[in-house]
Amino acid sequence: MGKKYFTLSFDDGLEQDKRVIRLMRQYGLKGTFNLNAGLFGTRGEVKGLGTFSFQDCPEGVKHKWPFSYVQHNRIPLDEVCQVYEGMEIATHGFRHEPLGAVSEDEMRASVDADKAALEKIFGTTVVGHAYAQGSTSPAVQAYLKAQGYQYARVVFPTGGFAFPDDPLNFRPSSSLILKNAVKLVERFKREEPGEKDLLLFLWAHSYEMDYEKGNASWYALERLFESIAGRSDIVYCTNSEAFAHI
Ligand SMILES: [Zn+2]
Repeated sequence: MGKKYFTLSFDDGLEQDKRVIRLMRQYGLKGTFNLNAGLFGTRGEVKGLGTFSFQDCPEGVKHKWPFSYVQHNRIPLDEVCQVYEGMEIATHGFRHEPLGAVSEDEMRASVDADKAALEKIFGTTVVGHAYAQGSTSPAVQAYLKAQGYQYARVVFPTGGFAFPDDPLNFRPSSSLILKNAVKLVERFKREEPGEKDLLLFLWAHSYEMDYEKGNASWYALERLFESIAGRSDIVYCTNSEAFAHI
């Protein structure tokens, strides 16, 4: 009989990760944070893209418009060890390089610098990567494999619960900001594993929870966490822990 694994990942090392991690700890969830060691503490803004609350929220929480720019501030180096304690740390490009689109030398330098810096800062061995902008190639995957990586995450969702055939092309089940995420959680709770293990893998950027005014997406995120938490038939784990058994 297979087992059911639930994991999360968040990219870019943002200030909003602190709020996500508070919720994850509150509900006993674990996950992986994909960090750019060359960008710690950098500050910026990104434009909100649309309505991303993924379930109905009560009046007063929901506020559909207007959207504006949201903060994209990365956590400074002197805070990261404390913030991410207990979570897995993975690489995401030293300065967020799209590895499949840069030269081979730049690709290798980006991976090497990010991996070395994160391993030194956190005192762990990095075995996972998330492709910045989802950008990858066979050469990138071969290099990651040669450097001891066990998995690397792309962006395009599967909408399902299968472990990937190719761990260096690790597709998540869904983004957290798609309405489908809530449906997948409900399906996953009902699903009986057969011979094969099942994996529900949801990802996002924590700043995306700020797109919608009035905390609607944060509210929806907490309801999703609450909905999946505390079940004896689900293993709550980081990305690499989910892979450890295969
Ligand atoms: Zn990113």
